[in-house]
Amino acid sequence: MQQIILKITSGACLQKAGIILFLLFLPFVSANMQNTEKHPYSQEQEEMVRTQIIARGINNKAVIEAMRNVPRHLFVPYNTRTFAYNDQPLPIGHNQTISQPYIVAYMTQALDAKAGDKVLEIGTGSGYQAAILAEMGVEVYTIEIIPELAETAKRNLKRTGYDNVHTYCGNGYNGWPDEAPFDAIIITAAPESIPQALVDQLKTGGTMILPVGPRESTQTLKKVVKKSKGIRQTTLLPVRFVPMIKSYN
Ligand code: SAH
Repeated sequence: MQQIILKITSGACLQKAGIILFLLFLPFVSANMQNTEKHPYSQEQEEMVRTQIIARGINNKAVIEAMRNVPRHLFVPYNTRTFAYNDQPLPIGHNQTISQPYIVAYMTQALDAKAGDKVLEIGTGSGYQAAILAEMGVEVYTIEIIPELAETAKRNLKRTGYDNVHTYCGNGYNGWPDEAPFDAIIITAAPESIPQALVDQLKTGGTMILPVGPRESTQTLKKVVKKSKGIRQTTLLPVRFVPMIKSYN
């Protein structure tokens, strides 16, 4: 016993023990480590997943896990953090909003994206929806038209460690031709009709989820699947999204 104590207290052995401990814990030091740790709103987040996501029928395990792991309070303005896990959308400035958690989960499930897929998002907003997809292992390309929001989202995503999200400030109606085609496309602002340029950037067999409608009161969420000839569209549910801006300066 004494021998052992003497051994591990000698300088060289302490160094060795340190290296062994470091190696033992290395697998736990992942890029998103802070996101699976407890935080001041952990209980609210767990409650949100249970009552708003699982209880309402979201059953895709990867989506549920992402909703459980992405710290939504780090994507909303500081003074609204305490409401981050409430069953509601929240303002993020510039007359824009981050969607209610259930809608984010519903759209993500409907998109049916898998780890390794390349997904285009139109309307980065806070970066939260992009983070949910990134947490699922998706390679995300996201476009935001309002420069200040694009900057904030970039900061939010960096701070939370999602480096598989590529951000771009520009008009989403043009898509991201240099990175096309995409396995799936998600639009989080409502155009009046399905943008053809975005359908063109979708792979055959790929899915696009988007709210469509000229007025907030008549919008519906649609699922569009690209076929070898044309598209097949399904209406999912009535929704209220901010309009997709035609141009911004
Ligand atoms: N997905 C976001 C919420 C989106 S709110 C999140 O998780 O927080 C809709 C966003 O779409 C707003 O930030 C708005 O500025 C952006 N937007 C509206 N029209 C756009 C366009 N033409 N191109 C790109 N972004 C657009």
